[in-house]
Amino acid sequence: MSQKVETREFQTEIKQLLDIVINSLYTEKDIFLRELISNAADATEKLRYLTLSGDEIADKDLPLEITIETDAEAHTLTISDNGIGMTREELIANLGTIAHSGSKEFINQLAQTSRESKGSSAGEVALSLIGQFGVGFYSAFMVADKVTLSTRSYRTEDESYIWTSDGSGSYTLEKGEASGRGTRIVLTLKPDAYKYAEPDNINKIIKQYSSFVPFPVKVNGEKANTVEAIWVKNPAEISDQEYEEFYKYLANAFDEPYYKLHFSSDAPLDIKALLFVPKENFESMGFSRMERGVNLFCKKVLIQEKSEAIVPEWARFIRGVIDSEELPLNISRETLQDNALVTKLNKVVTGRFLKFLDEQAKNDPDKYREFWDKFGNFLKEGAATDFVHKDALVKLLRFESNMTKDKELISLEQYVQRMQEEQKGIYYVSGYNRESIESGPYLEIFKDKGIEVLYVYETIDDYVLNSLPEFQGKKIIAAEQDSEDLPEISEKQSESEDEIPQDEVEGLLTWFKETLGGKVTEVRVSKRLVDSPAVVLSTFGTNSMARMMQLMNKDQGGAPPSILEINSSHPVMKGINDLHKNNDPFATAAAEQVLENAQIAAGLVVDPRGMVNRLNSILERAVAHKE
Ligand code: ADP
Ligand code: MG
Repeated sequence: MSQKVETREFQTEIKQLLDIVINSLYTEKDIFLRELISNAADATEKLRYLTLSGDEIADKDLPLEITIETDAEAHTLTISDNGIGMTREELIANLGTIAHSGSKEFINQLAQTSRESKGSSAGEVALSLIGQFGVGFYSAFMVADKVTLSTRSYRTEDESYIWTSDGSGSYTLEKGEASGRGTRIVLTLKPDAYKYAEPDNINKIIKQYSSFVPFPVKVNGEKANTVEAIWVKNPAEISDQEYEEFYKYLANAFDEPYYKLHFSSDAPLDIKALLFVPKENFESMGFSRMERGVNLFCKKVLIQEKSEAIVPEWARFIRGVIDSEELPLNISRETLQDNALVTKLNKVVTGRFLKFLDEQAKNDPDKYREFWDKFGNFLKEGAATDFVHKDALVKLLRFESNMTKDKELISLEQYVQRMQEEQKGIYYVSGYNRESIESGPYLEIFKDKGIEVLYVYETIDDYVLNSLPEFQGKKIIAAEQDSEDLPEISEKQSESEDEIPQDEVEGLLTWFKETLGGKVTEVRVSKRLVDSPAVVLSTFGTNSMARMMQLMNKDQGGAPPSILEINSSHPVMKGINDLHKNNDPFATAAAEQVLENAQIAAGLVVDPRGMVNRLNSILERAVAHKE
């Protein structure tokens, strides 16, 4: 047998990661054990699955359990499993490189965070994330200055290999002695981590983090965990603490869950589900896209971890398990997505979850509000993409409006309840923020009439409302869009002398249209302006959509053509009319500026070059007139 020892370099990202693990995560060393036990459990779970699907397996009779041995004299801790083990190629791929580009990105971010904010908060964030991105194994180097891993794959013809590293830049590989299937990891503890060679400490950590590992974990021969599928139990028999521990185990989390939903049903399908909403949304904190977090079981046997088939994509923030006896045990993981039963399960569970959120929102609006602030974007994404659950999702949306105060939010249901009788629908207006909407021209008529308007700040809101023709029979209407359903100013009693004389209005409109050419599709007198001289109305969507399209084709220059509505009782319009009647060329500059001001108020991007010259000539004239 060749005794060759080969030394190999770690991939750059692994070196970075090791550096973070060893130098920044020193506060919570205990988690290394959770990571190694969970790897052992994953490998065992995979083996159990292979057994069920009838694959050929080496050492078929080995018990499916995880064993831990402590040696206080030698200062070592050994963790062994009889799982699937690894081939030489798998060793190199799994423990020498990081394959997912998401994880690479994560490590770069983590490296940056820990550089920027030395101290506890960086450590905390890193800690909450470390288990979620497939970087858990390296946590062994928090406590060990040498890790020796021997492994043999379940494939019958495979040999065993030994991997060792001290956590600096490289590792070694060599062939091992003949041994049984699975993986055995020996940690040679650092002097400040000798306590991990004491069984009491190990038992305590297992209780805290690994109680729910679905295989026996034995410490020096004695079973240390409960091995329990708590989701199949009656909720009345489960304590809050058990739920919390289970959540921590399942989600690799350090805090308690924000919401918990535990239910079972027999009809239309047999389902047992235990779902959690976490406290924090890491995706919104700038980390990479979350993976799905619900595991699919059949009679307590794991069919698929982080199943993409069992909850819709927008629900990727949910953590939990779904167990159904109706699933065939030997179902192929590849075809889960196309399995009609799984699709049905998905529909029932997702529907039940949305109903739960609706109840929560009604029973404890403040608590729901906090959830909405963190996770609302997932629900919006759902409302825009999930046609199966659209109605239920739309009910959960929350908005600010011209009538909400102090960060209060309302639902579409509440809006409809307090609508005015003659109102033609549900109005909304988009803008960068509350201030910009309230100082803009679109709100004037609504203020004047005391009509409620929802404010939306993000393109996704706009997209959702735009794709929704109605809610509870009420039309949904964008205040920025040309529509007959917008409210109008009440008829004026008499013509005031500030107003442009009725017989001159037509001429002014025609002149405006000729002057502005292709920049406008139509010019007309507005029935909704109070304080502003003019407003643009979009012809094909809302302003924020037009803005987004502008940003996508940057080289187009200028805003897209729209309808220009002018306020014929505004002094600016009166002035322009007088200039135009006197054939003063300054009228043209004023008209162009009116249009661009209205486009800016709409949040559109105007070409700044022409505008600066024009504004200067306008200024020049204004200054001269003051003399
Ligand atoms: P993750 O578990 O999230 O994938 P880890 O860093 O914990 O990330 O482990 C990396 C990979 O190494 C695992 O995905 C697995 O393929 C392999 N591995 C780790 N421990 C074991 C083990 N005990 N048995 C078999 N494979 C293992
Ligand atoms: Mg792991």
